[in-house]
Amino acid sequence: MKKRFIRMQMYLIKSCPFQTDHMQVRTRFAPSPTGFMHLGNIWIALLNWLWTRQNKGKIVLRIEDIDTQRSKPSYIQGILDDLSWLGLDFDEGPGHSFSYGDTIQSQRTHLYEETCRDLLKQGELYPCFCSRARLHAISSAPHANEAVSSYDGHCRNLTEQERVVQTKAPSLRFKVDDCRIEFTDLLKGKQSKHLRAGFDDFVVKRADGMFAYQLAVSQDDGAMGITHVFRGNDLMDSTFYQILLMRKMGYTPPAYAHLPLLVDQQGIRLSKRQHGISVKELRESGTTAEEIIGFLLYLAGETGHKCRMSASEALRNVDFNTCRNLTKDSITVPFKKMNILR
Ligand SMILES: [Zn+2]
Repeated sequence: MKKRFIRMQMYLIKSCPFQTDHMQVRTRFAPSPTGFMHLGNIWIALLNWLWTRQNKGKIVLRIEDIDTQRSKPSYIQGILDDLSWLGLDFDEGPGHSFSYGDTIQSQRTHLYEETCRDLLKQGELYPCFCSRARLHAISSAPHANEAVSSYDGHCRNLTEQERVVQTKAPSLRFKVDDCRIEFTDLLKGKQSKHLRAGFDDFVVKRADGMFAYQLAVSQDDGAMGITHVFRGNDLMDSTFYQILLMRKMGYTPPAYAHLPLLVDQQGIRLSKRQHGISVKELRESGTTAEEIIGFLLYLAGETGHKCRMSASEALRNVDFNTCRNLTKDSITVPFKKMNILR
């Protein structure tokens, strides 16, 4: 453990350009308004906030609501209320100024459209006419954990004549060349993945017109000048595709730090479906913001589990770089010790 801890500090010091005075650190917290924020969301928000503020950076609150079916405006207000109550402030976002366009994704679709048009013109995308049934048949269980489901390159080399006779509305796929994508995660070190032409071609715009997560996130991180991304470990695999996409868009990818996921005793990630762990429920049951922040810092390996601490106290007293649990893949939440659950 000690060795890993030292290694983490080395990455943080050596591979972060933020250590130089001339660079303005910009990070983002990017929740989806599909429910109330729970401990797992706040865990990411708190650590992101702590690191950014300790490095004199700016935080963008980006609302990822491209999934219009599941997103609700009332949940955006819920996110704002929870962050404000916890004392986790941000610099750009809803209700604040923003320097790189609106920070709500549903207000940025014209930018995604423009990006798709450019990539199509450059020959980086192609229309895919495959039916859902066909895609389901080729991407079965073995690939369930991958960020993009495995494809077989079926529509990659259709001729113009073969395309014009199609009756189904196409999705747009990114054409991946055989390549190896590497990056150094600030917490977990060197990461590497071999991407395969055809098999790894991924959808950037669905047949129903909805833009894919990979496209929207890459466009936004690039356009918003994000320098460091702090997010859950479940998105590690997505990072390879986003780095590839950002390079093709002409952006320099940010540095990445994938934080451990909070899981229950069965190893299942905390989710909006679980009761009693949303910030709203905790607040309404009498739990204080200091108890929640103290408990999350305990999970990070920094304090005792009964510690109570406000966000501003954490900023003064807790050094992100010494939170010893952050190199783990996941952290089991000891609900029994959770004195914040009454
Ligand atoms: Zn296809």
